[in-house]
Amino acid sequence: MEWDATEFKQRLLEAAKREGFELAGIAAATPAETRQAYLDWVRDGRAGEMHYLTRDPERRSDPGIVWPETASILVAGLNYHTWEPDPAERHDPSRGQFARYAVGEDYHEVIAGKLRRLRAWAVQWGPRDLAGRYYVDTGPLLERDLAARAGLGWFGKNTCLLNTRQGSYFFLGALLLNVELPPDGAVSAHCGTCTRCQDACPTGAFVAPYVLDARRCISYLTIELRGPIPREMRPLIGNWIFGCDICQEVCPWNRKAAVGSDPRLAPRDALKAPELIPLLEMTVEQFQETFRRSPVKRTKRQGLLRNVCVALGNSGDPAAVPALVRALEHEEPLVRGHAAWALGRLGGPAAGDAVRRRLDAEEEDWVREELEAALRELCSTS
Ligand code: SF4
Ligand code: SF4
Repeated sequence: MEWDATEFKQRLLEAAKREGFELAGIAAATPAETRQAYLDWVRDGRAGEMHYLTRDPERRSDPGIVWPETASILVAGLNYHTWEPDPAERHDPSRGQFARYAVGEDYHEVIAGKLRRLRAWAVQWGPRDLAGRYYVDTGPLLERDLAARAGLGWFGKNTCLLNTRQGSYFFLGALLLNVELPPDGAVSAHCGTCTRCQDACPTGAFVAPYVLDARRCISYLTIELRGPIPREMRPLIGNWIFGCDICQEVCPWNRKAAVGSDPRLAPRDALKAPELIPLLEMTVEQFQETFRRSPVKRTKRQGLLRNVCVALGNSGDPAAVPALVRALEHEEPLVRGHAAWALGRLGGPAAGDAVRRRLDAEEEDWVREELEAALRELCSTS
């Protein structure tokens, strides 16, 4: 019997739904439509230190270069909107906030498993020489461009992909196939005159609608940036310790968005607005145990503790001073330097004494600069 690409596509999309993907569509294997905007963004340095995004931009914007056999692409979306934070805890400065996408299991593994099974299904039911490659997020593809072309949603002014039923809380994965399938069409955009995401961003990270300067984005500063967070950005981060959801939370399309059903993406208790002070005292073993198979591992322990110091500095809570004083002795300079900053913000005689004592012993130049800046802050407010 002759192979029917339209029927196969329909069955493939049904198989994707059975795998738990709420969204699925087919994109043609053509270069990204947002290629020029992406190249401009890279050229303007807006990706910061995310070198995986800036390496070989020509390749990233053309699936035909990534895998020359590509003839069509299945793009699938998995909803991670599995809970709503308690509003009181969400705004409690003594508690830290993780972005919603990070509170469950590592989505890379969850989605890769689903795409692997979908590929096996396609190999079993497709033409004899069918082959495929799958990518989740960190692959060399512009997934959002593919997803928009596959009809999964439109580019919102907050740069997320938006869907009228699913909002924007969903992950994307792509399965490149060497068989040609009828592509889906793009859907129309529904941002209209709304500017809520731009207005709500606490760091002014949107240089224009649809254009994000990652270097000012809390997600970048708390996850991707490996070194010190620029001092002028720290007060703007509030109590976010891994990512930020503000420009999605305010989006009207997320207010009525569907709820995700994959239990692996549901929040672990330890990641639901945890108290900051105990987090700062977390040992290596506790970090590994708490964040096993979690996206939060990406920051490593020193990165998370750096973020916790910043959030404690923003908390205004004098109860944090003793823990921050102990953090001045931390083995990681990154943690010591941010603890010094936080003590400078919180102020008080105990903070001043500890910063002065540490300055006598500190050998790292960068940490000494932080300690000296903290002392100036302490002197100006005492
Ligand atoms: Fe701004 Fe937060 Fe959105 Fe980044 S994630 S653009 S900091 S609101
Ligand atoms: Fe679009 Fe408004 Fe949502 Fe921003 S908040 S993405 S402008 S609908």
